[in-house]
Amino acid sequence: MPVNAPVRLGLLGCGNVGSAFLQLVDGGADAIAARTGIRPEVVSVAVRDRGKARGGLERDRFSGRLADDAWSVVKDPAVEIVVELIGGIEPARELILGALAAGKPVVTGNKELVAAHGAELLAAAESAGVDLQFEASVAGAIPLVRLLKESLAGEQIVRLTGIVNGTTNYMLTRMSETGLGYGEALAEAQSLGYAEADPTADVEGYDAAAKAAILAGIAFDADVVAADVHREGITNVDASDIDFARRLGYAVKLLAVAERTGAPGSPAAVSVRVHPAMVPIDHPLASVRGSFNAVFVEGDAAGELMVYGRGAGGLPTASAMLGDVIEAAHHLREGMRARSVMRRSVPLRPISELSTQYYLSIDVADRPGVLATVASVFGEHNVSIRSMEQVGLGGEARLVFITHTALEADLQATIGDLSHLEAVEHIGCVLRVIGPEPVSS
Ligand code: NAP
Repeated sequence: MPVNAPVRLGLLGCGNVGSAFLQLVDGGADAIAARTGIRPEVVSVAVRDRGKARGGLERDRFSGRLADDAWSVVKDPAVEIVVELIGGIEPARELILGALAAGKPVVTGNKELVAAHGAELLAAAESAGVDLQFEASVAGAIPLVRLLKESLAGEQIVRLTGIVNGTTNYMLTRMSETGLGYGEALAEAQSLGYAEADPTADVEGYDAAAKAAILAGIAFDADVVAADVHREGITNVDASDIDFARRLGYAVKLLAVAERTGAPGSPAAVSVRVHPAMVPIDHPLASVRGSFNAVFVEGDAAGELMVYGRGAGGLPTASAMLGDVIEAAHHLREGMRARSVMRRSVPLRPISELSTQYYLSIDVADRPGVLATVASVFGEHNVSIRSMEQVGLGGEARLVFITHTALEADLQATIGDLSHLEAVEHIGCVLRVIGPEPVSS
């Protein structure tokens, strides 16, 4: 391979991440070439609106490179690698399929697309014999795909547990550390630019569910799409739940979990879910504060390890994109391609089969006999109570339960019956409790 060989890139999209990518490539080409032997060069950039002002990027930087027809970039004979940062499903999907069919490696950060059409895109890359890289699509700058595909290639993964949404982790951290209510924490996250004006994708867990599907894909080669993922957000979590958890020695986190059941190598089923959870304070994930992301990996031989870093933001995401581009460029130069990965259909284990401990808060009328009635509903469904605390709220009381390990289906049946009791005003937050039961309980 010629040292400092240029590799010509076509960039689709020049928004938050695309503009940061352009900045890294234009400003760092010499250093990258010296370090890697590859000199990246963005030869054309597709945007929707060519007239738009582009923040810190000087206009002359685009001279001659800006196009408003993304297909012209994909088809440009000068473009060797296509870098997709448009986002969404279409036209990104068709553009990527078009680039692959033309024999051009593709690097994308598009989580929505990879979570919905990952199997199709990987199959297209396989039949074209070129790379499809998507490191930035999950957990931003954190090198998770490469970790699992290369360093842990021989490992039988048991479970990935991730904090993969920085917005909700920021909110939960602020609620825990300053006692802010949910609405105040959301307003603060919005004012700092961590949350969108419409925060649904973050607070309802949709963003984390897309990433959970990608986690299941890279851990188990399972063809899981975002719609398959059991999803609960944080809108029911309030400051008192977090305070209660903290007093018991837990942090509350929104977790994305991908877990195998059955034999290594060919999991009988995978469980893929997103929900708020109580994480023991001495667990490495409990110390992930603010908008940071982390993924805790459990493998048969490697045991436990964790990767931590910036899960979003223009520059961190662009850094992950650039790493993929350099790898794809090396493969291109050497006539190689990344190890092929094909997704396979694996049965999904329904959430109803989950077995764990639970936290449940219930607001009830504060009068004699109510506690006994509520407790009897738990008993009727084989859900055994490990601890209970009652807090007065004027004419109401809040009952907070931690259960022993129970089946999710039984817990849900309990909640169903509780919701029909006349004395029950409101069923609040359900949190799964991570880790084994304390021996003393
Ligand atoms: P963004 O700021 O909305 O930028 C999107 C860019 O695509 C814009 O430059 C837009 O053009 C261009 N575009 C849209 N439709 C187009 C079309 N049909 N043809 C040509 N260009 C088109 O999005 P972003 O935040 O950079 O995110 C890009 C991707 O990275 C998404 O898939 C996202 O999920 C992923 N990602 C983002 C982050 C993050 O922190 N932002 C983190 C991880 C992954 P105009 O500028 O002219 O409107």
